[in-house]
Amino acid sequence: MHGLRIHVPAELHELADLAVNLWWTWHPSAAELFRSLAPERWVSCGRNPVKLLRDAPARDLDRMAADATLLARVHAIHEEWIKDRDRPTRPDFPATRDRPIAFFCAEFGVDPALATYSGGLGVLAGDVLKQASDMAIPMVGVGLFYRRGYFHQRLDRSGWQHEYWTTATPEELPMVPELASRNARVHLRLRDRSVAARIWRVDVGRIPLYLLDTDVPENDPVSRWITSTLYVGDRAMRLMQYAVLALGGVRALRTLGVDPSVFHINEGHASLVSLELIRERRALGEDFHEALANVRSQVVFTTHTPVAAGNEHYSEKEVQAVLGALSREIGIDNRELTSLARGGAANAHDLGVTELALRTARSTNAVSRRHGEVTRGMWQHIWPGRAPKDVPITHVTNGVHGPTWMAAPMRALLARHLGPDFFMTPDPAMLKRVHDIPDEEIWRVRDELRGRLVGYVRDKSIADRLARGETIAYAEGAMKTFEPDVLTIGFARRVASYKRLNLLIHDPERALSLLANHPVQVVMAGRAHPMDDGAKRLVQAIFSLKDTRAAATHVAFVEDYDMAVAKELVAGCDVWLNLPRAPLEASGTSGMKAALNGGLNVSVLDGWWLEAYDDGVNGWGIASTEGLDEAAQDARDASTLYSILEREVVPSFYARDDANLPRAWVQRIKASIERVLTTFTTRRMLEEYTTKVWSH
Ligand SMILES: *Cc1c(COP(=O)(O)O)cnc(C)c1O
Repeated sequence: MHGLRIHVPAELHELADLAVNLWWTWHPSAAELFRSLAPERWVSCGRNPVKLLRDAPARDLDRMAADATLLARVHAIHEEWIKDRDRPTRPDFPATRDRPIAFFCAEFGVDPALATYSGGLGVLAGDVLKQASDMAIPMVGVGLFYRRGYFHQRLDRSGWQHEYWTTATPEELPMVPELASRNARVHLRLRDRSVAARIWRVDVGRIPLYLLDTDVPENDPVSRWITSTLYVGDRAMRLMQYAVLALGGVRALRTLGVDPSVFHINEGHASLVSLELIRERRALGEDFHEALANVRSQVVFTTHTPVAAGNEHYSEKEVQAVLGALSREIGIDNRELTSLARGGAANAHDLGVTELALRTARSTNAVSRRHGEVTRGMWQHIWPGRAPKDVPITHVTNGVHGPTWMAAPMRALLARHLGPDFFMTPDPAMLKRVHDIPDEEIWRVRDELRGRLVGYVRDKSIADRLARGETIAYAEGAMKTFEPDVLTIGFARRVASYKRLNLLIHDPERALSLLANHPVQVVMAGRAHPMDDGAKRLVQAIFSLKDTRAAATHVAFVEDYDMAVAKELVAGCDVWLNLPRAPLEASGTSGMKAALNGGLNVSVLDGWWLEAYDDGVNGWGIASTEGLDEAAQDARDASTLYSILEREVVPSFYARDDANLPRAWVQRIKASIERVLTTFTTRRMLEEYTTKVWSH
């Protein structure tokens, strides 16, 4: 029995069960149920129903327990969940409930309250678990519980980013100590010390996500810190995190009696899984090559990083210091280990986490068609003698989980016109009916979503400004920023240099004249890595736009970009920008989220957009200019961007008929929604993983 059940009256047990399973996050009736219990506290509790119920005064709980209407509503939603939970697993699926897919990832973004993610990789992993639940695919997730999570961002008055961390309280989160083993620990030897890790379980609908946590009393103070912070800077600490994730993760599954049919290494951080599986087989007496062959038949790998420097390497000395015990147990000499994991010429003696996965997985895939091409070229040296096109790396283009990212009004509109099951059982003919929806209905939803975003930006700007110590007059000025009928452009992402957040202000004069001479407003967000001063300077440059008159009321920077901010932005923006330096955007997913809500993409033709862009019918593409030097590439792409915005986007948005409808714009919205629903969802993505990757 989980702790929340003990906390509430027996009549509310079903409510408590709904609160501890993240199923509610993508079922609007359940989310609305929690909100309606205490609308104000719902917001102050960070939309976290566990905290909402734990903090509820006893008299409120008693009142709920005596409210027959409420209990009937809870029961109906709980029944819906039970029906979902008890569906049989897919008969045609290559794994079974007893032999699930184990999906390993260093971060999972399932809900903003559970801050175990930093960006796109984690959010994608969270979307995968939710989709596996929807499709009744047998899967378990394995990750780490970071008590301090990723950092929060706060800008000072000069626009300089400061970071702070908050420490999570597990009791207030949708997680429970794994019951079968309340006191169970997994043990590993790191830096020649014994390290224990506790196992938490997070329920994502039908899918259990196991999170390892080394903050337990029996560990020494350094070991307790291993899982504290996502992507710590210290290399030895990071390597220990990867070991806890992989070695600890496999051992946790064994402890829980879970025997996966496939071990899915999602990005190189988790690639030590292969070494742990080899160690297990060596302990059973298999020789090294036999063990390697058997392990390979069970491991698959997805790579996400098309930049050589983004694929981490650890020196022999670093590996020895942290993982000496493991290589002794595997019983191979360093030369053999190195031959499994060595990098290219520059890293010939190092353990490359990606190289290790490439050499120990039966299947490797990239995350978009273009990324597949780039990846085959990058890792050609692992398969000497093969031409790049013959390198055995395929691709499965990423997608997003529709029910998570489509805002309620758009979802209701589509359900009305396509049928209530348009997410669960979509077919092309059904999705075509998007084009039959009356223009004014689509536009009404767009107006509503944009209106909500404007309210959100105003409120957030006032709060951010006051927190920064600005004057009341200036804070109140935010009430005048942003208008509900104005073309709203969104640009939000991790501030990594290849994402080129700077491109919008590449030619400041042209950018300002765009803002001064056209009715547009821009909302931006993004966190810079704490160690990346260059990225922080960029945030500062964007932030200081507010000091120019043209931009003061038309540009807003929303602090602390996370899943909650992302949801507001992708729902409300009319135009979503993505300006990566091609070909460095492996896929990108935020543009898919915007498209689901009727936003139109203006993006560099790279990653997913290269596959989705339909020659002006569903958005705009900036032809990539690969091969130029970076400065020339930036100048050209920025100029193309300004031209598209001035000559096409703005006129098209404001080209209204007698009913004040932008007919051509709405046709684009329909094409864009149809395109993304047919192809760029996690549904299509997991169908493809099933046939291409998980099936043997
Ligand atoms: C979707 C998402 C991302 C990934 O967006 P990209 O388009 O890949 O940059 C990053 N962070 C958050 C919070 C998201 O929701």
